[in-house]
Amino acid sequence: MPESTPPFKPVRLKLLSENERTCGSCTACCTQLSISCLGKPAHVPCDHLSPSGCTNYKNRPTPCRGFTCLWLADQGKLFNDSHRPDKLGIMFSPSGKETTSLSINAHELTPNTIAKPEVQHTIDYLRQFFPVKILQHHLKHTANTSLPKAAQSLTKRAA
Ligand code: SF4
Ligand code: SF4
Repeated sequence: MPESTPPFKPVRLKLLSENERTCGSCTACCTQLSISCLGKPAHVPCDHLSPSGCTNYKNRPTPCRGFTCLWLADQGKLFNDSHRPDKLGIMFSPSGKETTSLSINAHELTPNTIAKPEVQHTIDYLRQFFPVKILQHHLKHTANTSLPKAAQSLTKRAA
């Protein structure tokens, strides 16, 4: 990978995701991010999240439709398939205006992922081009909220 070439063109971040990669079974951003129009705090599974994905997919709000993590946007230039956020344990997301003030947030999904050499290398690489903010893991789920409401109701129905 040439050191002087950005892994992607920031202004095309969202457009890139329209091509090959799909989220598959990853739903990391549905837990990690705060979504104010849903009243959803960060680090808590969305109420619409079920074991099979979003139960409100057709009517999901604009922030959900517009979000693209770097793994999805990258299309294999920097991240391979095993780097999908739920597999690697860290989600890189764009922050700020793509054309003028893009920075990267590194959301640690599982404890100590940040210490993995491959993650450190990725952060070092990204820092050549963008400010990278590390958001360390915060496990805020409790016994009652570890499953989102949609998943809890499915579990009850199955019982
Ligand atoms: S974190 Fe990325 S790959 Fe995972 S669901 Fe969100 S956009 Fe898709
Ligand atoms: S509404 Fe759907 S896409 Fe949006 S955060 Fe909730 S589960 Fe994810």
